[in-house]
Amino acid sequence: RPHITFDHVVFGYESDRTILKGLSFEVAAGSHVAIVGPSGAGKSTIARLLFRFYDPQAGRILIDGQDIAGVTQESLRAAIGIVPQDSVLFNDTIGYNIAYGSSAATEADAINAARDAAILPFIEQLPQGFETEVGERGLKLSGGEKQRVAIARTLVKNPPILLLDEATSALDSRTEQDILATLRRVSRNRTTIAIAHRLSTIADADRILVLDQGKLAEAGRHSELLARG
Ligand code: ADP
Ligand code: ADP
Repeated sequence: RPHITFDHVVFGYESDRTILKGLSFEVAAGSHVAIVGPSGAGKSTIARLLFRFYDPQAGRILIDGQDIAGVTQESLRAAIGIVPQDSVLFNDTIGYNIAYGSSAATEADAINAARDAAILPFIEQLPQGFETEVGERGLKLSGGEKQRVAIARTLVKNPPILLLDEATSALDSRTEQDILATLRRVSRNRTTIAIAHRLSTIADADRILVLDQGKLAEAGRHSELLARG
C-alpha cells in the first residue's frame, strides 16, 4: 500500500509561476525512495508541501490514504522526521542533542530510547560518547559527525517517515556511503525519502523518482534508469 501519494499536484510560489505541473507519484510503505532532479526542479518544494508550509493549488497529497489538507502541521511534524543539509546542533552534549525534541522526560531516558531504537550504530561511529560537549566551548564535530548526530536525533523520535533533504550532499562520498549504509541497516522498514542530486546518494534506493520541469520524468531502480539511458 502507498504510504505517501502525490496525486496530480500543481504548485507555484506565485500565481504566474508553476513549479509542480500535475506531479503524481507514490511511495510504498517501508520503501526507500530517492527524488532527484536538476537544481530548481522543485525537490525541496515537495518537502515544504509535505509539512504544509504551503498547500497545492490543485491536486492532493495523501499520507496513509488521508488528504493532508485536513492534517495539522503539528501532526505532520510528528509523522515526518526531516534531516536538512546543514543540521544545527546545540552547544551541549551529544546526548542532549539526541534527546532534544524526543518525548523522553530526561536525557538519560532519551539515551536509553536511543539504545532501544537501535540507532546506536550512528553513535558508535562517533569517536565521542554521549557525554561529550560539542559546539563552541566543546568539541568541534566534522560535517559527517554532525549529520550522524542529527540523524540519530531524528530517528530517536521514531517517525514513520524519514525525509533526508540533501542530508549527505555536503559530505565527501566515502562519509556519505558510510552514513547511508548505516541508515539502511537501522531503518530498513521505515519509509524513507532522500532528496538528492548526487548519484552516489541514490544508487541503492528501492526506487528513484526523476523530477524534471515540474513532472516525473522517470521512475525506477538505478539499474533500470541506466539501462534506459
Ligand atoms: P530544488 O530543491 O529542486 O533545487 P526548489 O524546490 O528549492 O528546487 O525550488 C524550485 C523553484 O522554486 C526554483 O525555481 C526556486 O527558485 C523557486 N522557489 C523556491 N522557493 C521559493 C519561494 N519561497 N518563493 C518563490 N520561489 C521559490
Ligand atoms: P527538529 O526540531 O525536529 O530537530 P529542525 O529544528 O531541523 O527539526 O526543524 C524544525 C522543523 O522545521 C521540522 O520539523 C520541519 O517541520 C521543518 N523543516 C526544517 N528543515 C526543513 C526543510 N529543509 N524543508 C522543510 N521543512 C523543514
